[in-house]
Amino acid sequence: MTERLYFTDSHLSEFSAAVTGCIRTGELYEIALDRSAFFPEGGGQKGDSGYIGSVRVLDTLERGGEVFHIAAQPVSVGSICDCRIDWAQRFSRMQSHSGEHIVSGIVHGDYGFENVGFHMGEDGMIVDFSGYLTEDELKLVELKANRAIWENRRITARFPSPDELRAMDYRSKLELTENVRIVEIEGLDLCACCAPHVSFTGEIGMIRILESIRRRDGVRIRMLAGEAAYLEAAESSRELRRVSSLLSVKPEGALTAVEDVLRKRDELSYRLGGFKRAEIARFAENIGYTEDNLLLFRPDFDLDELRLLANSVLPKCGKMVCGFTGSDSEGYKYVIAQRGGDLREKAKELNALLRGRGGGKPEMIQGSFSATEEEIRKVLEK
Ligand SMILES: [Zn+2]
Repeated sequence: MTERLYFTDSHLSEFSAAVTGCIRTGELYEIALDRSAFFPEGGGQKGDSGYIGSVRVLDTLERGGEVFHIAAQPVSVGSICDCRIDWAQRFSRMQSHSGEHIVSGIVHGDYGFENVGFHMGEDGMIVDFSGYLTEDELKLVELKANRAIWENRRITARFPSPDELRAMDYRSKLELTENVRIVEIEGLDLCACCAPHVSFTGEIGMIRILESIRRRDGVRIRMLAGEAAYLEAAESSRELRRVSSLLSVKPEGALTAVEDVLRKRDELSYRLGGFKRAEIARFAENIGYTEDNLLLFRPDFDLDELRLLANSVLPKCGKMVCGFTGSDSEGYKYVIAQRGGDLREKAKELNALLRGRGGGKPEMIQGSFSATEEEIRKVLEK
């Protein structure tokens, strides 16, 4: 059975160990050591990577009480190796995991809700709680969690005896009674957990709850801790300053300014719509009757406007009214209308000729062509 060095010293990143096994599984090797500081995946935390001698360890996992180091090359059984874990990655994961214990401990202590799901991913940690918390409540939880960091509370881990354990009020996802490792955040939280943690809450640096959504009877939050929390805060603040400088307001006025810009945009777009409708009506009134196809290229129109245009000029055309928006480089979206007859067969024919797709109803088809204006005119101007 591997002696787990991270149980007693979570900050140990280099150690020497004897290789006790090396099994090939497919393309990879599973290496066992007599002692290891590598943490095998567990409790929501990923397995460590690093080196055994010069062999790269890609991941670490646990099976039947033994720790297996996953590598692309073998090492010889019986040899003594200098081993090193990827410390920056491990420390960041410990910051995150300890940060999660603080938040879950506070939520449990203040609201009585359990942590019922925990996942550490690329975008931060996802934590599910058994009860719902409002945004204001989560704001308070975040503030308290950061206060716990500034108080620099001690974090310890131990295996209490079964008697001790029975008398203990601790958070746990599993109903274990033996070999339960308890991680204690002094005066704040007791939780059953197998993972390595920072030794003092001060090492976490910062905790941020980024978002929350209602989930069944509870709430799911996304949070960050440690360097990841700092980097996100710093980048968000730089981004906000850029936005506020573009809007020539102070950062705290950026939201109101953006809402203002959006309102003005909606007003302008509404007025522009009015102008376009009037223009379409005028155009339809003034255009002469034609027995040929009528081709209208309007790059400034959207599909709704193109449809209105096609319908409006339909009485002035004996064949098809073909409205286009787009460009030679990006292709054209089309709306084609005709009084009487069935355009659906025509759609297939045109799509084949002009590298297009789309279809519709007998009296109106729409879609797109990956063709130039010249190619479209050649096919339809006859
Ligand atoms: Zn844990």
